[in-house]
Amino acid sequence: TYVIAQPCVDIKDRACLTECPVDCIYEGVRTLYINPDECVDCHACEPVCPVEAIFQEDELPQHWEHYRTVDEEFFDGG
Ligand code: SF4
Repeated sequence: TYVIAQPCVDIKDRACLTECPVDCIYEGVRTLYINPDECVDCHACEPVCPVEAIFQEDELPQHWEHYRTVDEEFFDGG
């Protein structure tokens, strides 16, 4: 899955929303979230993000590792 990290917070450019073929990117109050159960790993979203907030989960910078959990909890918690 792909994960949206810190640079998206309070930016929410939304360019990724129009690129995602399965519409698995959702809008929260301060950031956007990718539903890990719906993401098909197509990579379309990553290059269009103007603030480079999107990473393949295995390529997340170490200091943003926790964003993987942030995304999972957003969807688990409803
Ligand atoms: Fe959507 Fe593809 Fe990005 Fe996953 S990798 S969130 S399916 S655009």
